[in-house]
Amino acid sequence: MRKAVVIGAGIAGPTVAVALRRIGMDVEVFEQLPPDADQRGSWLNFQANGLDALRSIGVGEWVEGIGYPVDAMSFVNGKGRILGTIPMAFRREDGLSSRMVPRAGLFVALADMARHHGVRVHHNKRMVEAFHTDAGVLARFDDGTEAAGDLLIGADGIHSKVRQIIDPAAPAPRYVPVLNSGEYIPDFHVDVPPGEFRMQFGTRAFFAWMNTPDGGTIWFANPPQKKEPPRGTLSGITDAQWRQRLHGLMDGDAGPAPAIIDATPGPVTGWATYDMPVVRNWHDGSRMIIIGDAAHAASPASGQGASLSLEDAVILAKCLRDVPDTGAAFDTFVALRRERVERIVADSHRASAEKAAGPILRVIRDAVLPRKFRAAQKDGGRSLRWLQGHHIDFEVPVAARSSGHR
Ligand SMILES: Cc1cc2nc3c(=O)[nH]c(=O)nc-3n(C[C@H](O)[C@H](O)[C@H](O)COP(=O)(O)OP(=O)(O)OC[C@H]3O[C@@H](n4cnc5c(N)ncnc54)[C@H](O)[C@@H]3O)c2cc1C
Repeated sequence: MRKAVVIGAGIAGPTVAVALRRIGMDVEVFEQLPPDADQRGSWLNFQANGLDALRSIGVGEWVEGIGYPVDAMSFVNGKGRILGTIPMAFRREDGLSSRMVPRAGLFVALADMARHHGVRVHHNKRMVEAFHTDAGVLARFDDGTEAAGDLLIGADGIHSKVRQIIDPAAPAPRYVPVLNSGEYIPDFHVDVPPGEFRMQFGTRAFFAWMNTPDGGTIWFANPPQKKEPPRGTLSGITDAQWRQRLHGLMDGDAGPAPAIIDATPGPVTGWATYDMPVVRNWHDGSRMIIIGDAAHAASPASGQGASLSLEDAVILAKCLRDVPDTGAAFDTFVALRRERVERIVADSHRASAEKAAGPILRVIRDAVLPRKFRAAQKDGGRSLRWLQGHHIDFEVPVAARSSGHR
């Protein structure tokens, strides 16, 4: 039986593991963090194409019960003027739609799903090196232990070590000039219709909020920051400093942002934003490959990073099932995926830039956006078909293709 060593138990890792079990492979997953450790972003917008990918391998129920549906996004400017309301999702025939899911809950559910399908998931194992051997590949961890397999899949996120091993010249993640902060407030209500996420292009920062059906509120903010903060500096900012900074950005704008900041139980924290536009080599031609954020990270603005990682996980398993040579299977995967994911990363980067607009761009944006939103409203979400209508039939075989590069 062929064996895969998967690095990373975020979103792509456990899912590729289950998909590989379905094609009869043995799989072990290694994650550097303890279980339930990563709560960055607090909540994720999980879109229908990601749920479709999970359903395609028969595991949709592990996620479909988590979180809340979200139907629409409305946009206001700093003065509270409505710029437009657009459907959150393309109406799929199978009824799949977008959900807000708690990040930590999602990670735990996916790791449990993998274990339930016979995958060994090991936590507190940071991979520090990996190399080819006569028999396959060997990964080495920070505790001195090793894992051998026939192939190694780097599902190790935007700061991927596996990417560096495959291509030491691979570019570093690109800094996107907005920070992220966000939380959930239990027992706190804001005045927005149920199922609607309200987004404010504030005078100084982007701020968004939504009621949850359990009587709470989810919010996030994107304070603009032109220069990349040196590593480690954001974690040194205290709860009180974050609140003060957010108040400084939002006070004076119309809307509930100041009350939301005050009501948040905390600690309020923040993260820098990165994306990964074009990684030339996703695999090494024979034994190692990267998927998910390791290969192509979209900034959070698209709400697509998680879903793309799930699509990758399932499509890679199809390629490994149907294309006998591993290198050719990897190349087929790249040929099938690259164009779609790079388009989404580029769109997402543009959307993030709109959030960080200065005074002149802000005037143009406020004039242009209502027209854009009216068109999107009229279109009823159909323009999102290519994005959220993506469907995978796991049983349909793939034919070998060449990507032109790795
Ligand atoms: C603030 C924020 C908000 C976001 N909002 C959204 C959203 O609303 N919707 C959406 O779809 N996406 C969103 N994203 C993006 C989304 O989180 C990612 O696209 C998604 O998590 C990628 O999944 P992944 O499995 O490829 O990587 P990750 O989820 O990052 O998982 C990688 C895993 O690998 C582990 N790892 C890394 N290095 C090693 C190593 N050397 N050894 C062992 N383990 C290792 C990490 O600890 C991690 O658990 C957001 C991201 C951020 C930062």
